[in-house]
Amino acid sequence: MPIQLLPPQLANQIAAGEVVERPASVVKELVENSLDAGATRIELDIEKGGHKRIRLRDNGNGIIKDELALALSRHATSKIATLDDLESILSLGFRGEALASISSVSRLILTSKPEMQEQAWQAHCEGRDMAVSLNPVAHPPGTTIDVADLFYNTPARRKFLRTEKTEYQHIEDVIRRIALSHPAVSFILKHNGKVTKRYQASASDHLTQRIAAVMGQKFLTNAIHVKTDYHGMQLEAWLGNEAMLRSSTDGQFSFVNGRGMRDKLILHAIRQAYESVWGVLEQPSFVVYLTVDPRDVDVNVHPAKHEVRFQQSRLVHDFICKTVADALCDGDDKAQTGFDE
Ligand code: ADP
Ligand code: MG
Repeated sequence: MPIQLLPPQLANQIAAGEVVERPASVVKELVENSLDAGATRIELDIEKGGHKRIRLRDNGNGIIKDELALALSRHATSKIATLDDLESILSLGFRGEALASISSVSRLILTSKPEMQEQAWQAHCEGRDMAVSLNPVAHPPGTTIDVADLFYNTPARRKFLRTEKTEYQHIEDVIRRIALSHPAVSFILKHNGKVTKRYQASASDHLTQRIAAVMGQKFLTNAIHVKTDYHGMQLEAWLGNEAMLRSSTDGQFSFVNGRGMRDKLILHAIRQAYESVWGVLEQPSFVVYLTVDPRDVDVNVHPAKHEVRFQQSRLVHDFICKTVADALCDGDDKAQTGFDE
């Protein structure tokens, strides 16, 4: 075969292989876009575990008519313009691939209305060239994205879909994680027309209320709370006690600069701390928020951004491990104030 450029749809389907693994990964990408657009209310309607339909509505900034086609094309983003921007990234997205990837493996309809634009517009793209067509529609300010028949044109991927129930659990898991890192945003999650989860933003004390809503009041009441600064880093954590051990890692949540992670270094540091204090083999529950200077962490190492690379990984590891271990040792009293005070 001669060398030839791949048609856009095929190129996007290949890229989708990296970020669109299952319905939950679609949900993650869509919700992150809404958060980057400043939404304070995000509603998700899921049908059949997301196999059939994932519909998200938000009250964010919206996308102007002239940019709808760009939003659906690959390597198009409003979040970075230069390499410098990537060095100190604060938005959740920056790759400009999610919508293009998702629309290449589903029937995606994007509808949006920025506050200042009179009319809402709806866009979808079709065929090998992913040609975009636009129609005027009625829609309140914000964005709706409707993703139907995920993987209908990629049977190899479709084969890997699990049962409706399992896929829905993955979606709930994604929402739990995101809800924990965005306590001022309301999330409403529906499955087959019924509300299954509702995380309401509270007027004050967002974070503890959100932790109670996601992890349960019992966790919040019994967890050891610690908040510590060190060399420009901050760690705030709620650490489950010995009565809250589980057989799975379901209750483990860690965040770096507001981004949910399954980062090996962080999990290792926390685990080592728990083991040094309790010698436990079972899984502790915890919610750990690490804040570092965005220039000291590279988020562009994993397409789905589950992992990061720290400039000073040893320092970060030891900071987490020591803070968690000290807090567990000292119990509530000292942990409330942290070791700096
Ligand atoms: P990225 O998030 O990496 O920029 P995406 O493909 O996820 O790439 O989205 C492309 C662009 O579409 C974004 O940069 C943003 O400008 C716009 N966009 C996507 N979803 C929304 C939304 N819910 N509200 C407003 N703008 C959005
Ligand atoms: Mg995105």
